[in-house]
Amino acid sequence: MEKNSKINMERLVNHCKNMGIIFAGSEIYGGLANSWDYGPVGVELKNNIKQAWWKKFVQENENSVGVDASILMNPKVWEASGHLASFSDPLMDCKNCKTRHRADKLIEGFSKDINPDTMTNAEMESYIIQNKIACPNCGKRDFTPIRQFNLMFETNRGVTKESSSVIYLRPETAQGEFVNFLNVQRSLRMKLPFGIGQIGKAFRNEITPGNFTFRTIEFEQMEHQLFCKEGDDDKFYQFYKDYSIQFLTSLGLPQEKLKFKDHEKLAHYAKNACDVQYKFVFGFDEINGIHNRTNYDLSRHQEFSGKNMEYLDGVTNEKFIPFIIEASYGLDRIVLAVLDNAFDIETLADGTEREILRIKPSIAPFKIAILPLIKKNHNDKAKEIFKELRKHFRVIFDETGSIGKRYRRQDAIGTPFCLTVDDNTLENGIVTIRDRDTMEQVSLKVEEVACFIEKKIRE
Ligand code: ATP
Repeated sequence: MEKNSKINMERLVNHCKNMGIIFAGSEIYGGLANSWDYGPVGVELKNNIKQAWWKKFVQENENSVGVDASILMNPKVWEASGHLASFSDPLMDCKNCKTRHRADKLIEGFSKDINPDTMTNAEMESYIIQNKIACPNCGKRDFTPIRQFNLMFETNRGVTKESSSVIYLRPETAQGEFVNFLNVQRSLRMKLPFGIGQIGKAFRNEITPGNFTFRTIEFEQMEHQLFCKEGDDDKFYQFYKDYSIQFLTSLGLPQEKLKFKDHEKLAHYAKNACDVQYKFVFGFDEINGIHNRTNYDLSRHQEFSGKNMEYLDGVTNEKFIPFIIEASYGLDRIVLAVLDNAFDIETLADGTEREILRIKPSIAPFKIAILPLIKKNHNDKAKEIFKELRKHFRVIFDETGSIGKRYRRQDAIGTPFCLTVDDNTLENGIVTIRDRDTMEQVSLKVEEVACFIEKKIRE
């Protein structure tokens, strides 16, 4: 279905603020660039996506378990992983207005025909000069040369400044799985191939603003690391590419809005890598990555920690360091993709507009809204139904305003069903259920409602 042409990122940002989905971080103090807070509606959506991921990648996935590792890790982890030496962005300052920019993003913004990932810093600098790329803030063409800035946030550990030592907020969750490889394998007697999943916060000192929650300084990752024998790696790389599409489409993202983008310039240790991109209102961009990381990570941790990371194959008696296939998802980017896909503005037959979030019932923030038709007559019964249904799933109660306005409010936060309590409920125990997308209504007995909703959630 073609979307209303009024839809753009600004409209979605406003909608999210007004509907309690996402607010600008520390807003009363003027905000903090690239930080956002999830409101009462947004947190439900986010939690539902998290649960769907855990179910797919840990619960239903063959031979998978989870961990919840610390955000703060021994700094040697980041030496071993290579983040201290090379987790950096190529930045240029505008000499006129003093704003800072990522050289690769300036080039991407200028032309989609060239891939800055394949260019050296010198090549990017001369491309920017030759093509007269201007500062997006002030329009001048006067940049400093490129400098590499590390993206890791530093903090200090220790009671006094003198005794303190630098530690880092983790820029990815993956190292928590890698450093616990031996612990997990031995404690649960795991046999290869097996996977470790984790959901948690990661932090990056990103300077490129814009596009709402797409790029933030604090975000949540959902990462799954599959440990396998060399030779099985290509098969599992393909498996996680397919699995990724299955997961994203199960959230309601249409297949035709998803595509793979292979990495042209592979990291020196990677054998294969691709991103899954989603078609946002601002264009296709990355929501997750799949990487064949070879045995690089565990080899590096063996080298830096001195601990033997080899796995002993009980059948062949071979000893080797496992390969890793990583499937890494940005939770906030997936929430944004779901909102972007679900948001629509419909013009109704009477010429009025309704704003709607067509979110799949399985991940919708609230599954059903309980609406007493007339507050003073129907509230007690409605409260009784509300108290019963909220034992099963997230339910919302709304008694203020006309019934039409209340329907609109629920459409706007993606509640798939509205239950109206009226005289028929008091007399015969019958309620009306309205469908968000079709606006059609059906009558049900009160005791059938929980089953009806459970079925819709599973569809
Ligand atoms: P990008 O190229 O957009 O900076 P990346 O390739 O550095 O992303 P990865 O290191 O592969 O990203 O991280 C895995 C996932 O984490 C990404 O696919 C994305 O969904 C998410 N992610 C990475 N950086 C951010 C960020 N600053 N804000 C929100 N999500 C992020």
